[in-house]
Amino acid sequence: MSHLDPEVAALLAMGEQPSADESRHLDACPECSAEVSSFSRAVVAGRATGEGQPLLTPPDRVWESIRSELSLPVDEPARGASSLAPAPAASVGPSSSRSHRAPRGRRMSRRPVFFVLAAAGAAVVAIVAGVWATGGIVPRPEVISEAKLDGFPSWAGAAGEALLERVDGHDRVVVDLDASVPDDGYREVWLLTADAGDLVSIGVLDGSSGSFDIPDDIDLSRFTVVDISQENVDGDPGHSGDSIVRGTLSAP
Ligand SMILES: [Zn+2]
Repeated sequence: MSHLDPEVAALLAMGEQPSADESRHLDACPECSAEVSSFSRAVVAGRATGEGQPLLTPPDRVWESIRSELSLPVDEPARGASSLAPAPAASVGPSSSRSHRAPRGRRMSRRPVFFVLAAAGAAVVAIVAGVWATGGIVPRPEVISEAKLDGFPSWAGAAGEALLERVDGHDRVVVDLDASVPDDGYREVWLLTADAGDLVSIGVLDGSSGSFDIPDDIDLSRFTVVDISQENVDGDPGHSGDSIVRGTLSAP
């Protein structure tokens, strides 16, 4: 049989009657009988001397029992608290781990705030980018058709591409040309019918790329061929006949 519970020993010392088992244990166990006697002396001393006298210190087992009953840390409160925090690997003692623990706690409390702010910033960027991409800020062109522009034999290596785009209900042709550049003259962009029987100029190409608004009176169902020509400064508004590249627009 285990030793008497300290609370039982205290109650017995105060006059409670022991059970048969407790009586047998007290008879056989000098340790428990000494404890009950100790409590009894304390009780007698307390009753005899009244208040104002120093109380006797109860055995450690009594405090251990009380701590256990109240779920208190077994050891010193400060060391008990330190066991709750994750101990740094480099910790060598309570004082050093405490000095490390304080700043760590502050960092951990700020980290969620940082993530919230970062997430909010990312959300703003995403919203702005989304509005931009969907045409909320800058109209997004709708590609109606596109053409691969093939170089003519006299323009070896020339190539290009053209896009027919619709923006805010208006059409435009965007061209990009990769070809050698003569010392004089200029380049002009044309729309031709499929049989090249009719053509219309949509503008002069300055540099290697350009965007040309298409007048509403041009029937894009007829003018489906994009042509870029090399023109001489000769006062003739017509096509020079010197095509650099040409291609037919078709749905992407
Ligand atoms: Zn005992």
